[in-house]
Amino acid sequence: MYTAVLESKPFPYAVGKCVCVGRNYAAHAAELNNPVPSTPLLFIKPADAAVALTPQINIPSQWGSVHHELEVAILIKNRLQSATETEAHNAIAGVGLALDLTLRDVQDQLKKQGHPWEAAKAFDGASPLSHFIDIDQVADLENVEFSLKRNGKIQQQGNSAQMLFPIVSLIAYMSTIFTLNPGDVILTGTPVGVGPLAEGDTLELQLGTYFTLQTIVAKS
Ligand code: ZN
Repeated sequence: MYTAVLESKPFPYAVGKCVCVGRNYAAHAAELNNPVPSTPLLFIKPADAAVALTPQINIPSQWGSVHHELEVAILIKNRLQSATETEAHNAIAGVGLALDLTLRDVQDQLKKQGHPWEAAKAFDGASPLSHFIDIDQVADLENVEFSLKRNGKIQQQGNSAQMLFPIVSLIAYMSTIFTLNPGDVILTGTPVGVGPLAEGDTLELQLGTYFTLQTIVAKS
C-alpha cells in the first residue's frame, strides 16, 4: 500500500491503481517501431506497483532488461466516471513524475505472441512515483518540460505539449473505461530515449522549474 505525497503531506487516499497510456509521443512510438495509435492505448498497474521514487528504486534482476520510461504523473482527487474535460481538470490534485518501469525483453516476447503486457509492466514496484506539487502551482499543464539524466547524461527530455493525447482529454477518456478514484495516479506516456537501467545507476529527474530529485538504482 503506497500513499502519494502532495506538497510534503501524505495524500488522504492510498494509490488504488495507476492508469497508463502507451505511445503518447510520436518519437517514442517510432523508436520501438510501433505505429502511432488513433485512440489512447491504455493499461493498468495495480496498487502494489506504486512505490516511492526516492531515495532508491529496486529493479528485478531475474527477467532481463529493465527500461526507464520517464512520465508526467497526475494524482487524482475526485471520483471520475465518463467525466467531461472540465470534471477531469477539476479532479487533478497534483503533478509529479513517474518511472513506468518496463521489462523490455519480457514485453518483446509478449508482444510477439500477442499476449497482454502485465508481466512486463504491472509487477510489484513497477511504478516509482515522485512527490506531487499542487496543481495550483502549475502555470500550464500542457507545456511542462521534464527530463531524466542517467549517471549525469541526459537520456530523456520531453514536454507535455508533445503528447498525442493531452492530459485533460486523456483523463476524461480513461474515465469512460475505468472509474478513477481519489488516490489513483495517471501515467501520461514517455518521450523518446527509453533505455536500460543497471544496479548502481544514479538518476536525476527534473520537472520543469518545480523540482529536481536524485535516486539510486538497486537490485531487489
Ligand atoms: Zn510508459
